[in-house]
Amino acid sequence: MGGKEPTYFLRARYLQAIQDAGGVPLVLPLVRGLAKQKYLLQRLDGLLVTGSGSDLDPELYGEKQRYSFQRMSEERAQLELGLSKLAFRQGLPTLGICGGMQSMNVALGGTLLQDISSQLSTKIQHRPTKSATKTAHEIYIEPNSLLQRIAKRLSISVNSSHHQSIKSIPSSFQVTAVAPDGVIEAIEASRHPFWLGVQWHPEFLYRQDAIQKRLFTALIQSARQFVTRRVSFQKKVEK
Ligand code: MN
Repeated sequence: MGGKEPTYFLRARYLQAIQDAGGVPLVLPLVRGLAKQKYLLQRLDGLLVTGSGSDLDPELYGEKQRYSFQRMSEERAQLELGLSKLAFRQGLPTLGICGGMQSMNVALGGTLLQDISSQLSTKIQHRPTKSATKTAHEIYIEPNSLLQRIAKRLSISVNSSHHQSIKSIPSSFQVTAVAPDGVIEAIEASRHPFWLGVQWHPEFLYRQDAIQKRLFTALIQSARQFVTRRVSFQKKVEK
């Protein structure tokens, strides 16, 4: 949200990636309150929690803000956290990108590093000046994870455009990819049908990189299975 006359902004790349993977994207309004968020979520077959230029208020994970950065509006933060919590409980296929992955983590009780370069000694630039269409560093992928099944590799090159990262995860999550400096680059929840957060930006890479495209096609495929499960459940209830 921004501008004098409040207006929604969303990078079209996210919507294009969903369409190119065979899905139909819907942009969600900033709805307040869990009951209304639940109503909204019931109309979806899957969820993409996108990235954003702003960061969650550290109070949301029990810390004071220690560095200077733009805080996400309270409205957007409440939507991202609320939908993530509900999608986790309902088994709704969910992919989080960059800040979206951080919201999925905080929603279920995880915490964040507020500023990588201030809090961690690393030689890797996680927010290089080069374009996000270029890869920036390697990541190492956990064998037998959802990400490994999608990537079919144990290491890949990714882009990087973040100054925050995950510090701790809730007990129901697993870290399934790290950068060579130990920065967490992917999280999952093995008990959930499709719960994947990535710290990089596949929407900038998928046109030239089949592995990155599969992140989106895997989400859509899982969303199709979710619809089938929901339909068979409704049939059972109607009998
Ligand atoms: Mn990175």
